[in-house]
Amino acid sequence: MAVPKRKTSPSRRGMRRSHIALSVESHAECPNCGELKRPHHVCAHCGHHNGREVVTAGKALKGAVRI
Ligand SMILES: [Zn+2]
Repeated sequence: MAVPKRKTSPSRRGMRRSHIALSVESHAECPNCGELKRPHHVCAHCGHHNGREVVTAGKALKGAVRI
């Protein structure tokens, strides 16, 4: 079995972990109802997108994420 020759130093461990941070999920205000929604997505609150109602409001959207 391959075994590391040296112990990973705190500096090298920190360098490796510098890429694992979670990014903040982006959100935008819905122009119709003002609720926060994901950009380029149908509003989960009112069902509007691009200035018109695409899905009936109140209906549960599959895969929709409420922010
Ligand atoms: Zn909305």
